[in-house]
Amino acid sequence: MLDVSGLVADYGAVRALDQVDLKVTRGSITAVLGANGAGKTTLLRTLSGLHRPREGSVSLDGKDITRLAPEDLVRLGVAHVPEGRGVIAELTVAENLRLGGLWRRDRRWLRTGAEEMYELFPPLADRRNQRAEALSGGERQMLAIGRALMSRPDLLLLDEPSLGLAPRVAARIVAVLRTLRAESGLTLLLVEQNAATALSVADRAVVLYLGRKVADDTADTLAADDRVRRAYLEV
Ligand code: ATP
Repeated sequence: MLDVSGLVADYGAVRALDQVDLKVTRGSITAVLGANGAGKTTLLRTLSGLHRPREGSVSLDGKDITRLAPEDLVRLGVAHVPEGRGVIAELTVAENLRLGGLWRRDRRWLRTGAEEMYELFPPLADRRNQRAEALSGGERQMLAIGRALMSRPDLLLLDEPSLGLAPRVAARIVAVLRTLRAESGLTLLLVEQNAATALSVADRAVVLYLGRKVADDTADTLAADDRVRRAYLEV
């Protein structure tokens, strides 16, 4: 589904991604692992059109999407849940969800989609008329994911969904990601610093180190690879 080839991204003189290749198959969950500064966030930002790559190409189902703007990528089915949640604090839960589905111009979906999100994330249903600023960290993450899902993506890019959450809350989010993949065939690219969480849910994983891809294998193989764990994942 997604084919990334020779991707290079810089911030001025800092090379954040260096010749990264990545293939993601439809309906799979791929984890992107690595320590601080490895380039994980930059990879997602480049894939969602927020950062322009210097070199390389990205294709989605065979179509070149390398330099498309974020709004065009959303129309093609790519949604991004940024690090730090990215919900609008002053708007209510319902308004945030609506915002995620607005470009579809499908009034019925705005309503039925929101109901689907409340089923997926029951804590949001109880708080639908409260401002996002009143939510806990876990609920904000649920809302951020819900808002992205309102665009009905084929590919969901998730940046550190479990960051700062209690293990129980993180586990709940992970369970929803599994459900989504199983029930709707959604394809997920999941950035995580917590390798254990990510490897427990992913089919495949890649490890980035200083912008380079240093491992690319099934999640089970990587989870069992002490060398990779010790060298690159700080565990
Ligand atoms: P983290 O978990 O800390 O977010 P990461 O693996 O997501 O780490 P990136 O945020 O992609 O890593 O950063 C990759 C490299 O690019 C790092 O060396 C970082 O310092 C640098 N970098 C990231 N954002 C910027 C920026 N806006 N300006 C300059 N350098 C940046």
